[in-house]
Amino acid sequence: MKILITNDDGIVAPGLLALRAALLEMGEVIAIAPDRPRSACGHAVTLHKPLRLSRVELPDGGEGFACNGTPSDCIALGVSEDLGGPPDLVVSGINGGPNLGWDLTYSGTVAAAMEGVICGVPSIAISVTSHAVSDFGPAARFARYLSEEVVRHGLPQEVFLNVNVPPVPAEEIQGVAITHQGRLIYENRIERRTDPRGRDYFWFTGDRVEHRGQPGSDIEAVARNRISVTPLRLDLTDHTRLAHLRAWELEWPPG
Ligand code: MN
Repeated sequence: MKILITNDDGIVAPGLLALRAALLEMGEVIAIAPDRPRSACGHAVTLHKPLRLSRVELPDGGEGFACNGTPSDCIALGVSEDLGGPPDLVVSGINGGPNLGWDLTYSGTVAAAMEGVICGVPSIAISVTSHAVSDFGPAARFARYLSEEVVRHGLPQEVFLNVNVPPVPAEEIQGVAITHQGRLIYENRIERRTDPRGRDYFWFTGDRVEHRGQPGSDIEAVARNRISVTPLRLDLTDHTRLAHLRAWELEWPPG
């Protein structure tokens, strides 16, 4: 069993180490991760500069590769024949911070799992829903368990799993929920400030308005201290709206 792991928090992030340690019991684990934090880089890949890999000693004494690219670059490199060919499984994480609802489209963690799917490898993204995680233990344990289940059951070719673990001690976790993506919006998203030279600048801030009370959603599950597992697919088409949109009878040239 060969497992490729990455993250978007960087090669020395504690969540990656915890994931690696947990998966080592399953087989060979290859860690290729960005050489710096790349959170919220989405599915970006590097097309305009050389990609480099540096062998690094991880804080736990293990070996990994730091990459000057994005999480998706790391997966594309990791599955290449140059690095020994496709693994049996891709796991991205353990991210420090939630990847819930509409935020998934920003996530480097989730995008790495998307890249895994594109490369034809069963893939999992996993996060703990706090930016100040004190213990990745429960999430690491769940990552190993779910990885074994994915190997056992397989996943449809286009599907990957997005996991969010509440940041509470193991005994406070209220089970596992299979969820759908919730709705997540922000208020007061952009703040305007003035720099010391008197010029305006802008900063992403804002309040997340988590729409709770969405039964069955990832957001709702984590709010109830349950581990959320969402099956996602790369096809973003709203198949239920195809007929509706066809009824518009859009035409060219415009009538
Ligand atoms: Mn991150």
